Formats: sequence, structure tokens, C-alpha cells
Amino acid sequence: MGMNEMVLRESKDQTIRDYAVNIQSASKTLLSLINDILDFSKIEAGKMEIIPVTYDTVLFLNDVINMIDIKAKQKQLDFRVDIDNSIPAMLYGDEVRNRQVIVNLLNNAVKYTKQGYIKLSVSAIREADGVTLRIQVSDSGIGIKEDDLNKLFEGFQRLDLEKNRNIEGTGLGLAITHKLVEQMNGRMEVSSIYGQGSVFTVYLPQKVRDEKPVGDFRQHLEAVAKNQTEYKESFIAPDVKVLVVDDNEMNLAVVKALLKKTQVQVTVCMSGKDCLEIAAKESFDIILLDHMMPEMDGIETLHRLKTGENKCSGVPVIALTANAIVGAKAEYINAGFSDYLSKPIDGGALEKMLFKYIPKSKLKSGTNENFAPSPEVITEKEETGSCINRKLGLEHCGDDESLYRETLQLFIEIYDEKLISTNELLACEDWENYIVYVHGLKSSALTIGAESLSADARKLEYAGKDIKAGKNTEENIAFIKEHNDRVMDSLKTVVLEARKMLNK
Ligand code: ADP
Repeated sequence: MGMNEMVLRESKDQTIRDYAVNIQSASKTLLSLINDILDFSKIEAGKMEIIPVTYDTVLFLNDVINMIDIKAKQKQLDFRVDIDNSIPAMLYGDEVRNRQVIVNLLNNAVKYTKQGYIKLSVSAIREADGVTLRIQVSDSGIGIKEDDLNKLFEGFQRLDLEKNRNIEGTGLGLAITHKLVEQMNGRMEVSSIYGQGSVFTVYLPQKVRDEKPVGDFRQHLEAVAKNQTEYKESFIAPDVKVLVVDDNEMNLAVVKALLKKTQVQVTVCMSGKDCLEIAAKESFDIILLDHMMPEMDGIETLHRLKTGENKCSGVPVIALTANAIVGAKAEYINAGFSDYLSKPIDGGALEKMLFKYIPKSKLKSGTNENFAPSPEVITEKEETGSCINRKLGLEHCGDDESLYRETLQLFIEIYDEKLISTNELLACEDWENYIVYVHGLKSSALTIGAESLSADARKLEYAGKDIKAGKNTEENIAFIKEHNDRVMDSLKTVVLEARKMLNK
């Protein structure tokens, strides 16, 4: 699927693009079929877990609507959306399963409606300990015979086969949906008039994390619609180094190709053993590590990376997993991974993941705005303090905790007042003092563990030195003027973070 995505991105030949569109649609159908069967087996085996998280209501609904909008358009159905303004902005529940439930119902509405409309209405009913989301999916489709309504939620049950024989399906979707809703302590209702249409209503209890109402949803939708253009990379970061470990050569080629436009440097290898060898010699900004590999699997490789001698011990490691284990995030986090990506890898999700974990100072273009802010990203950033590598700082202070604290304190004192002083130096092109300043910053940043700030300061220092030596003067002045502000911004962030670390 990833390879095919590349054909779609790169081919200009319409016939080939048409083939690729067909491959895309067929493989998506196959994938969803496999996932349905896996989900169903999992539920039957009592292994389906509900994993609640805090999620952003607008982003969640946007995702769902985006997925269905294209399908509705293809069938020229009118997709009506009615989202109550007063639903709380942040909720707590199993976002993945909630999405699966709504998408299943909307997919059916599209599938079993030849003309007219499908409609999604969402509102929130206040409860003592949160809200109950009331999600209603209605359509003007073929409808369901009254006698058939009670068979609807049984597995492998397809109805009205003489009418439906041309519509793809397994009869598993509603059985899964129904069981998921039950597991989440919700309930589901259906009513239908044969020949006129159906209405499925789901009630899902959720906890509230932010009472602020979502407001006018139409505005959000308009903004989203504007963004639905062709693929464009969300950031460019040629200095970022990524290591991808997977025993499947094609997966490696796909990741490489998907990241091509971001210009990140991708190193690949095919086993846990090779990964450890590379990590011993070279450091990376992020590692993508396949879970299932022969001999040394991803978890063992990760363990050795974290405990052994190498240059990647503090680097975020993302697990690559088969789609079958979506929802197993907790398991991966417990094993020590920073996050996980499910296969087949989706280009957008991959970029988003990288963006979340790479040092922001290495971004050449691209900002947070390219990704709608997710609360998870914000809290994780606060927790991990990504711009100061505490372990490294401690190491530089001989693993002496109190010395490290003193060093942090000193860093804050020195750089708090001086934040603006580079502007004056730049204004009067005082390169001598500018070099002294960034040289100092380079080493003190490194001492506390602010690696990327230190690296940035080094670049500025070298450019300054070249100017003094009369080498490529214009180019170097331009370089400093272009980057100085950003580096000073990172300095501010580092100072803030150092304060936070001291207050803990
Ligand atoms: P699938 O769509 O894969 O056959 P589902 O479990 O999702 O399986 O649905 C079971 C059956 O219920 C479908 O085969 C179809 O006959 C009927 N059905 C589901 N949703 C609708 C709908 N919105 N309108 C009419 N019939 C529906």
C-alpha cells in the first residue's frame, strides 16, 4: 500500500494513476476485511481491551467526517452533519473504538444508500459523572425489513441478499460495532423503514476533560475542507537522522520513499543485531523499530539499546506493529517504546510521529500548525522535556544530582538577562563579541544537556568565525541573520524548561 501511495504521488501518467487508484481501493477493502476478522476473533476470544485516553472532540469528529466525506461524494450522496455546539471540547474515552463504531455505521449508510443523503448527528447528554455522547447515523437508503432487525447484530449475518449481492461485505461490521458499544457500557438502537431508510443511534458514556463547548463546527469543517489538497510534506528537516529497522525490505523502501520530501536522512537495516551495531557507532534523532523480527525481536533490541553501550540510549524509539495489534499502545509503552505506528504505514501518520519526536531546532520548515494540536502531544512534551537531555547533563556533571541542579541554576541566571543581547551585537555587526557569546552558549548548553541548542550555537559560532576570517562573508551574515532569532527562541525554551526541572 505504501508503494502504491508512492505511485500515486509520483506518477503523472493518467492510466497508471487509474490502476493505482484501483489498487488503493482494493487493498483498503482487503485490509478492512482482515481487520474485521481479527477484531471479531479478538472479541470472541474475550481479548478486546478498551483503552480510554483524553481526546479532542473536534479532531476526533473531523477525522471521522473526513473518512466518510470522500466516499459520500463518490456516490453523490448528500452528507449532512449536525454537531451540537455544546459538546465539551475534551473528552475521555476509547477514541479508537469510538471512531470504529461511528465509521462502521457511516460506512454502512453509504454502502446501503443509492441516492439521497446520509446524516451524522452528535450531541451530548449531561450525566452526573460526565456526558453520554448520542451519535445518530441516518440514511435515505434501502432500509431493513422489520423481521430482519433482530438478526442485525449477529456475526456473519447479511440481510436481503437478493438486493445486496453486489455490495461487498462480511456481515461482521454490525456485530463488532454492537459488541464494542456494549463493552464501553453504551447501548445501540436501530429503526428502519424498508425502502425508505434506517436510523442507528449509539449512546457512549464519556468522561469530560475540558468543559469548554466545541462551538460552531461548520467553521472547523470549512477549514478542514480547504486543507484537503494534494500531498505536501508537512515539514523539511535535512539534519534529522532516522534509523529504520525492519526485516522486510519492502517496508524499509516504503518508509524511505514516504519520507523523501521531508529530506530527513534515513538509514535502514534489517535486524536487531544490525541495529545495535549501527547504534554503537552513530547517533540518531529517532529510531523506528519493527516488533516482529526473527532472532532478536524489537522488544529485545530495544532493551539492549537502552541498557547497552551505544550512542542512542536516550533516543525515542517508535514500535512498528502489524495492524492486528492496534490498541496495544500501553503494551509498547510499558516495554519502553516511546510510541507506536501501525503497519501498513500511513505517510501522514509517519510524518506526524516524526514531527512529534524530532528536535524542533532541526526543522527547516514546518510548524506545529501543520498538525492540528493534540493534547497528548502537548502533555508529553511537558513531561519528557525534550529540549534538555537530563541524562546527558547529569553525565556531564559526573552523575552528581546536586551539581547538575547548580549548573541548571547557573545557566538560568546567565541566560535570563542576556536573552536580547545578541540583537544589539547583530545590529552593529560586532562579530567579535557575537562569537564569544555563541561560543559560550554552545558549551554551557551542552553541559546541561541541551544538545540541539548547543549544536545550533556551534553553527552560528562557525559562521561568525568565517565572517571574521573574511570567508563567504555575505553568505555567513545572511545565515546568522536568518537563524539567530530561532536559536534565541530555543534558548528561551531551554531556560523555561530548566526552571521547570528545578521546580520539580
Ligand atoms: P456488511 O455490511 O459487511 O454486510 P454489517 O454487519 O455491517 O455487514 O451489516 C449487516 C447487514 O445489515 C448488511 O449486510 C445489510 O444487509 C444490513 N445493513 C447494515 N446497515 C444498513 C443500512 N444502513 N441500511 C440498510 N441495511 C443495512
